[in-house]
Amino acid sequence: MAISGAREDFSVAIVGGGYAGIATAIELNKNNSSIAVTLFDARAYHQKLTQWHKLARGARSEKYEVAFSALAGKFGFRFCQQHVAVDALLVNPTKTLGRSFDAIVVAQGSLTPSLPSGVITLDQLRDDTAAQQQVRTITGKKISIIGAGPTGVQFAFEFAARNNEVTLYEARDRVLPTFDPALGTAAMRAIEANGIRLHLETEFVGYTKNYVVARGTHAGENAADLVLFVPGVRATPHFTCDLYGRVEGTRSPLYAAGDNSYFSGRGLNSKSAQAAVRKGQQVARTIIADAVGKSAPEYTYAELGYFVSLGPKNAVGYMFSQKTAFSGRAALLMKEIVERQYDLYLAGFNVYP
Ligand SMILES: Cc1cc2nc3c(=O)[nH]c(=O)nc-3n(C[C@H](O)[C@H](O)[C@H](O)COP(=O)(O)OP(=O)(O)OC[C@H]3O[C@@H](n4cnc5c(N)ncnc54)[C@H](O)[C@@H]3O)c2cc1C
Repeated sequence: MAISGAREDFSVAIVGGGYAGIATAIELNKNNSSIAVTLFDARAYHQKLTQWHKLARGARSEKYEVAFSALAGKFGFRFCQQHVAVDALLVNPTKTLGRSFDAIVVAQGSLTPSLPSGVITLDQLRDDTAAQQQVRTITGKKISIIGAGPTGVQFAFEFAARNNEVTLYEARDRVLPTFDPALGTAAMRAIEANGIRLHLETEFVGYTKNYVVARGTHAGENAADLVLFVPGVRATPHFTCDLYGRVEGTRSPLYAAGDNSYFSGRGLNSKSAQAAVRKGQQVARTIIADAVGKSAPEYTYAELGYFVSLGPKNAVGYMFSQKTAFSGRAALLMKEIVERQYDLYLAGFNVYP
């Protein structure tokens, strides 16, 4: 195989097949199908995590999973189901991946920080069918959710819609605390209307004998049959990249994309699927440019909007500016359009120009 202007048999390894890794593979295939791409993932399925809260609606995870083998056939990459020790990869890539590659992309995403005993984390939900079954079927119970970011808020509304008594804990003074207050205010109105109990400025301490222990404004003990622990995610290791997606401070041709990366410059760096797809695309273009000795385009992607679902019938979000938050049917429609857009991308349509 040849890449025009570059040496023969140019090979790329992608570690992690989430939104970022898959976007890298799709873009490499689209822009130069003669590059040999190998994608490593610990799982057998690509997971559309942005829809994972629908498990609490009763949906099965299979609905939001696509086999890597199917994507490999469609987008011309080789899939290798393998957990890659990223720290070891940085020290000895050839030994860790079993062979040498001309370029390596790390896109392993992020993890829930720790696992207090008895609670369910998102990482657990991704693989544990017993935890999934519990979340899919629970009704008429007391559920505590730790963390009122997009994941916690989306699960809270789904559980409440199935007649569960939901308490949402947030250490900060508002819901959706990483966004403009306009979004949190709209979500808070819906939280009240849906009978979800909100404990702001309240920190989770632990969960023992079916009681959540908390300190802060709502300090004390509260009965809970199930605790979902989603206080935010962290990526280890995390990579700082230049304007193009190249990992800074390494001599090997190493690139990063997705939740585990920070790109210099003014492009979007949020821990979101949107940023992950765009960074994955960017890295693919940079790899191709580097391989042929041309200058790569800069990463300048500006966020278009973000939508958080508030149960099966409502959503809140904004377009272009966070100050313009809106909820209701229009927001729900936007959320659904964004999800369909990604489905079309996986089906091979060029919907992220
Ligand atoms: C319920 C929920 C709703 C969300 N809603 C939205 C939304 O509406 N809009 C939005 O933009 N974002 C949303 N997000 C955030 C979004 O899902 C993440 O930002 C996105 O998944 C990050 O993509 P990624 O490719 O970096 O990581 P991931 O999608 O997590 O993919 C990482 C991949 O790497 C693999 N992997 C990890 N470690 C290793 C290893 N050591 N070796 C091999 N493989 C490995 C994993 O199996 C996985 O396939 C939501 C998240 C959740 C949980």
